[in-house]
Amino acid sequence: MRYAETGFNLEIDLTRGSIERVATDPRLTELHLGGLGTNTKILWDRVPPETEPFSPDNILIFATGLLVGTPAIGCNRTIVTTYSPQTLLMAYSMMGGFFAPELKYAGYDKVIFRGKSPNLIYVWINNDKVEIRDATHLHGKGASETAELIRQELKEPSAQVAAIGLAGENRVYMASIEQGRSSASRLGIGAVMGDKGIKAIAVRGTKDINIARPAEFMELCNDVLKYIQVRSEKPVPGVMPILAGLGSPAEMKLVDEEWHTQNFMWGNARERKRDYWNKEIEEKWKETQESVRTRLISCYNCPMKCGALISVPGISTYMMKCFSKLTYTMAAFSDLDFGFRIAQRATEYGVDGFSTPQVMAFGLELYEAGILTDQDMAGMPSDTQGRFYWLLDRIVRREGIGDVLANGTYWAAQQIGKGAEAYAHNNIKKHEQLPLKLGMLNPVYFLMYSTGEKINITQIEGQFPQAPFPTMEEREDFVKDWIQVPDEKFKKYLLDWEMRGERSNPYYPTVDMSVDIVDWMEMMHYIDDALGVCAGLSSFPLKPPYHIHNYPAFISLATGIDMDEAGLKQAYKRNRTMLRAVNVRRGLRRADEKPPEDHWKKRFPELEAQLLDAYYKFKGWNKEGIPTKESLQELDLAYVAEDLEQRGIIKNEQS
Ligand code: SF4
Repeated sequence: MRYAETGFNLEIDLTRGSIERVATDPRLTELHLGGLGTNTKILWDRVPPETEPFSPDNILIFATGLLVGTPAIGCNRTIVTTYSPQTLLMAYSMMGGFFAPELKYAGYDKVIFRGKSPNLIYVWINNDKVEIRDATHLHGKGASETAELIRQELKEPSAQVAAIGLAGENRVYMASIEQGRSSASRLGIGAVMGDKGIKAIAVRGTKDINIARPAEFMELCNDVLKYIQVRSEKPVPGVMPILAGLGSPAEMKLVDEEWHTQNFMWGNARERKRDYWNKEIEEKWKETQESVRTRLISCYNCPMKCGALISVPGISTYMMKCFSKLTYTMAAFSDLDFGFRIAQRATEYGVDGFSTPQVMAFGLELYEAGILTDQDMAGMPSDTQGRFYWLLDRIVRREGIGDVLANGTYWAAQQIGKGAEAYAHNNIKKHEQLPLKLGMLNPVYFLMYSTGEKINITQIEGQFPQAPFPTMEEREDFVKDWIQVPDEKFKKYLLDWEMRGERSNPYYPTVDMSVDIVDWMEMMHYIDDALGVCAGLSSFPLKPPYHIHNYPAFISLATGIDMDEAGLKQAYKRNRTMLRAVNVRRGLRRADEKPPEDHWKKRFPELEAQLLDAYYKFKGWNKEGIPTKESLQELDLAYVAEDLEQRGIIKNEQS
């Protein structure tokens, strides 16, 4: 018997119209856990590195994490994996909500699509009955509208539906997959879904999941609930409000946006407004937020309520969470009311709420600079809000200049030329990042931004504070109950970290300490993404309920696999290295591993080189960031080493 997982994947070939229920190899669970781990292995095995993202040979995987469907709190992530049209590397965007548990209860750990459908279709998974159904009548419909129409058509109000909007159908590089209470948005995975002709996937599942040792497992789950309660009564002092508690950043609850509005850049990462926030704006924004926020909502089996239903008069209700509250407002130099209104249309179109506003602001900056002309923008309104709506409509339809901007700032700048590249100044590995431009280089963040395989700088940080506490008293107070540290040395790193002087950024944390800290952050994210646990309860916030010391018990009791800390760390290393190998085989090299040039005002080329060298060495990679044969062999990945050797990647790069 398989525990925690179903032991079956759905394999759907859209070219042939075939559907198969395929038993999976339990050994792969031991090696890679599930979710992101097994997705990476499948992508490596099945998709040759030369494959274009829009080739029928590219695959699109909707995976549940290993512990999804068990009573583990906040364990509800769908991990969507494919090759990204934006970066050309592996994409793995995640969504919370209810889709993944429903898929598990229908009896599947993953749905794997290959090929392309000649017509627009949707897939209806109703426990053992799976159908490919015509969706031509849904062409051009909004993502939430599509979900509702499908539920009505199926007469199944409880079906969970993941759908694309017009942006995905038109292969817009920032197209998202929307799912009512969450979305998988980054790296253009919605464009791949649209390219395959999939408008939506509807799921209804009513089966059980087996737990190896249920009574003990429930005890652990109850401990997590109790800990969440304790933490909610004891926010971390001395950090910005969104980092004080647990969950995804609680933007829907918070009104105080001084930190975001004054520290993040407005426009296309163009301008900081240091004196923006004041009492009058706070009052106005509070009124706006409270008037449109119908209620706070949670994902499956989670008490945190990070999201909110937003109802703006005259337009239909939608879900919002996290920093997307501010992205449109700040990109357009506008106010919060505008942000809430345009986000509804953008959600129906199915676009990434982080990249899209920046791309539109980029278009307007090019226009102001004379690089885009009146001819390019013919018919554009004169007011900024009107211009944003106008650009959004054109981008998702790929009309006129929208057809160029739909490829994101990196590719659009190359197509436009005439100096447009200088305005695409906020990319890492061809992908738009959060609009941050900072002063002093932080060595830990330098490494996370440069080397992260997730490729966007949101959600890669975690349990080590982002900045030092000003006083020793505060630091001592913080480390007192810091049970999550994998090793006591991290407490010392924090205690010694000063705001100024010798023990401050950029030379402290030292190179070796920075590598240690990044490895810890990465470890937690890779484990979460394999188990399907929300980062908001584990890898992202300070002092979360899940950590490296209790995760092995969760895995062992749920799955029956004998897992200890050493085994879990080895599985993390294997998954992390495998993902690196996938991208290395697609051409990723050291030269690609750099933050935007102006991300920090002060840069330290020598230190940055040392940081990369030390990080690569720690990981068992060579100076180009390519895993060595020996390190691959140690991780049971000898077949990966062989492949890289045959392609001349290991031999040529290491000699
Ligand atoms: S912490 Fe927030 S985002 Fe995460 S599962 Fe819970 S409600 Fe969803």
